[in-house]
Amino acid sequence: MSYVGPEFEPVPQRRSRRGPFTVALAALVPAALAGWLVYEVVGDSGGSGGSGPSAQAAGVSGHSAGPSSPDAKGGRDGTGSPSASAGTAGSGGRSLKGKVVVIDPGHNPGNFKHATEINRQVNIGTNSKECDTTGTATNAGYPEADFTLDVSRRLRTLLEERGATVKLTQDGDRPWGPCVTERAQIGNKAHADAAISIHADGSAAGNRGFHVILPGAVHSGSADTRAIAGPSRDLGVGIKDGFARATGTAPSNYIGGGTGLDVRKDLGGLNLSTVPKVFIECGNMRDSKDAALLTSGAWRQKAAEGISEGIVSFLRG
Ligand code: ZN
Repeated sequence: MSYVGPEFEPVPQRRSRRGPFTVALAALVPAALAGWLVYEVVGDSGGSGGSGPSAQAAGVSGHSAGPSSPDAKGGRDGTGSPSASAGTAGSGGRSLKGKVVVIDPGHNPGNFKHATEINRQVNIGTNSKECDTTGTATNAGYPEADFTLDVSRRLRTLLEERGATVKLTQDGDRPWGPCVTERAQIGNKAHADAAISIHADGSAAGNRGFHVILPGAVHSGSADTRAIAGPSRDLGVGIKDGFARATGTAPSNYIGGGTGLDVRKDLGGLNLSTVPKVFIECGNMRDSKDAALLTSGAWRQKAAEGISEGIVSFLRG
């Protein structure tokens, strides 16, 4: 109940201070929307059904339209969109132009209704594992899948403001999944310069803080992370530092020995990646103090800013 306020905090609009450009912006919206529709049709990676412009435009998540609104998405293609005309204002210019970032919002709000599909076993190189999982939730019922999607959209906005090309593995536009195998493949196919999977943990009360998960060096079956383990560590350290600075929260007190870093060889999303990739567990949803942060829109914005900071520093080398 104490989360009523933060839950309804609006997602900040992109470049909302462009008052003088309102008229021009209004004129550009139809063009941007058209560009977005083309992007959605052409750019879709052929995932399962249920996606489509109408579902996207309707704002299916129930959160504020914000970054997922048609004009925000229209900015992706960079031509004739509002963002293309004002991209340099106050955001460090377009220094990530040409860089590709894939953001993986962990789980899917619809996974709860598709147990059969997500429980299907998939091969992650080292072993078989469920296609996907439901994720956790706060004790008050705020699902991890809603959290991951919200932070991912905020992060997309921040990175696009820097000029990066950003792709989400799912954007509330499919009924379940994708499987962890496909989540990795999306980053690989995009030749991402950096990829990140956004999560929040479901550990015991009293366990607090965030940690970044790095891929261990795995070479088994279709998994070979030997080439990405090093750069992924660089990416992860940057994100750990940026996240701590932007949110002011401490690294995990239950994983990683206070370093904020953990190495794993059992995650399909990392094992199957051929591009630098990490996971972040932003906090523990089952701890009431962490939950108060995770359910705050203002805190989620800080989280996105911290992750963005880390990605930017990695990509700038
Ligand atoms: Zn998760």
